[in-house]
Amino acid sequence: MIARRGAVPIEERSLFAEYPFLAGAGALLGDETVSVRQLILDPAYDRARAIGRARVLAAVDDPRGSRDLTELTEASGDVRFLSFLYARLLLSSGPTPAALRRWAVAEAKRFHARLTNVPVDELVEVARRLGYSLDPHDGTVDLPLVQYLALAVPIREGEFRLAQQAVGHGRVTLGRVRAARLLQEAVRLELATPTPVVADVVRLVREREAELLDEVARRTPVPVARSGVPGQALHPEWFPPCVRKMQRTLEAGENLSHAGRFALAAFLHRVGADFETIVDAYRGAPDFDESITRYQVEHITQHDGGRGYAVPECDTLRSHGLCARDGDPGAPREVDRLRDDRCFDPKLRHPLQYYRWKGGREVERGEAEPGDRATSTAGPSTRDEPARSRSTGSR
Ligand code: SF4
Repeated sequence: MIARRGAVPIEERSLFAEYPFLAGAGALLGDETVSVRQLILDPAYDRARAIGRARVLAAVDDPRGSRDLTELTEASGDVRFLSFLYARLLLSSGPTPAALRRWAVAEAKRFHARLTNVPVDELVEVARRLGYSLDPHDGTVDLPLVQYLALAVPIREGEFRLAQQAVGHGRVTLGRVRAARLLQEAVRLELATPTPVVADVVRLVREREAELLDEVARRTPVPVARSGVPGQALHPEWFPPCVRKMQRTLEAGENLSHAGRFALAAFLHRVGADFETIVDAYRGAPDFDESITRYQVEHITQHDGGRGYAVPECDTLRSHGLCARDGDPGAPREVDRLRDDRCFDPKLRHPLQYYRWKGGREVERGEAEPGDRATSTAGPSTRDEPARSRSTGSR
């Protein structure tokens, strides 16, 4: 059952209609009781399902959540709520979590657009229902330091660095705009967590929505090799653990350091990924900006007459905390959770060596090509620091 009986006060009703992810939003359905199976099968919920599908497809095409969904804005509160539940159910039942994370980023950005324009009281109430204690004070709000850090760490804009905050008595004082941005992050975290779905329901959703899930997979970019790279297709299955972890971090909509962003773009370019594939790798980033990312990827890949910047060596990646050879316990796939013995071979010095080695070539000491030494750790996709100002060595 996803809804229960009970009246809901009018002000709470409008809050739930705007923020269907808040606990208790099921009360929007009033006396109606809707089961998961009804939501999936009952013709009475055709419209909610159609809008739910539209929400999913909009997120795939527009991870910045900037496109208006007319059918969503015109729908009643209960239909919006059910469409939200259906979208979440679809993506929690899908074959990979990547689409759910991408949807979480897009939906969180959509909610952010509203949060920037609402009265402080509404910000405080949404935060409270998400488990954050935002307190208003004379036009500002403050948040416990520990909660601030939990939300601000994935945000790369410089203005969120702790050193730039007004901190006192264990709380951080914020203007409304920053508070809204932090709440966007809280919403993203909430939505990126898959809803537990029993196996029978997963099967039912996959049967009923096979076409949509295929469409989502089709529209989710797959890695493509650029034309003119001699004799090779792109082989993501040969990527080393560090690069796979960088990709997962971005797909999850989490922060990846400058050094990681740089290394990922440089690596993808050197193994032959085309420009669009490299840009797509950053779409899940919490601060993704299409034009800045394009500019920065171009900067990295067009260096040295199109050869691109060198990929940092393993020692450099390790010093930046980017090596993942011990395994990533939080990774969804077993292969990513396990230690990779190849990476402990003393002859392995460079992620490109790993790639070639996995592809069947012998690993030789120093196989990394001349010039495969990093001269920059600037990475794509930040709004506040152009790549040209960050092309400085970190070694
Ligand atoms: S040892 Fe090198 S290739 Fe392997 S995960 Fe670490 S940095 Fe990457």
